[in-house]
Amino acid sequence: MKLVKPVAADRLSALLRQMPKAELHIHIEGSLEPELIFALAKRNAVQLPYASVDALRSAYAFTNLQSFLDIYYAGASVLITEQDFYDMAMAYFARAAEDNVIHAELFFDPQTHTARGVSMETVINGLHRACVDAQAELGVSASLILCFLRHLSEEEAFETLEQALPYRDKLIGIGLDSGEVGNPPEKFARVFARCRELGFHLVAHAGEEGPPAYVWTALDVLKVERIDHGVQSSKDALLMQRLAKDRIALTVCPLSNLKLCVFPDLASHNLRQLLEAGLAATVNSDDPAYFGGYLNENFTQTFAATQLNAGHAYTLARNSFEASFIGASAKKRHIDRLNAYFENFC
Ligand SMILES: [Zn+2]
Repeated sequence: MKLVKPVAADRLSALLRQMPKAELHIHIEGSLEPELIFALAKRNAVQLPYASVDALRSAYAFTNLQSFLDIYYAGASVLITEQDFYDMAMAYFARAAEDNVIHAELFFDPQTHTARGVSMETVINGLHRACVDAQAELGVSASLILCFLRHLSEEEAFETLEQALPYRDKLIGIGLDSGEVGNPPEKFARVFARCRELGFHLVAHAGEEGPPAYVWTALDVLKVERIDHGVQSSKDALLMQRLAKDRIALTVCPLSNLKLCVFPDLASHNLRQLLEAGLAATVNSDDPAYFGGYLNENFTQTFAATQLNAGHAYTLARNSFEASFIGASAKKRHIDRLNAYFENFC
């Protein structure tokens, strides 16, 4: 492990903001800001159940995952055309570039859209075109991970997979999201086995609100390569050993955990515990428009609340590149850039 020199507290925020980093847990529909929701509603003549941008924003006081999901699906209802999906993703990429995100792997929920009559082609083509332009215009590399909604059936996941296969070359992986409790990973054992045969990278949300048992089955039944969230793993010592031994990355989202009451406050967050147990934890924004902050806010607020230091910053950024699904040469290039950044800063 690289030795990182200490950085004074008043410079730590600048270090966190400027360091190059990857974001591996961002639901692109969760980046829709209220202003863009209203603009797209107007463009598409969609009626919203909120009178104004302020009324919508003030509804973002969640008590748990489900209370968030109800508003999240209402917000996504304004997305109709390929251009809407493109505009949503480009708005995220512009914001991510400001945070010095140089690589992003975007989750999207096609079932939220196909259920409303929007075609898979519209969704994927709009998002993919934004990924291409993000590289050309902003220097942000990006790829797409299709997520199945776990509150729906495995049969519906299979149908979604079939609809997506013509666009296989525009997708890097498959994930699993939405309401976790009562929808364990093993509910999707067969469809994930099929996705594995097809050569997709595999990830799943597990251990956000759900028990450590869900992390075990995501690993052993679904055979995922990363766990999204996974913060409940700290309740199971054997699981912590397994995650550390196999270098399974956790895509942790501190402000999301705070907003959805997974932890009572940021000072109680277990990110430090995960890192100090040798787990490949990363920091991510999840649904930044809804949870009060993009990636740099997640870093700076969590570091301030839990007294993490420059060494932790380096580890988290390095983990984000190592856990990404980019090729070996790009990975090395990004890590070299990170090393150079720390050499110059410290
Ligand atoms: Zn998530």
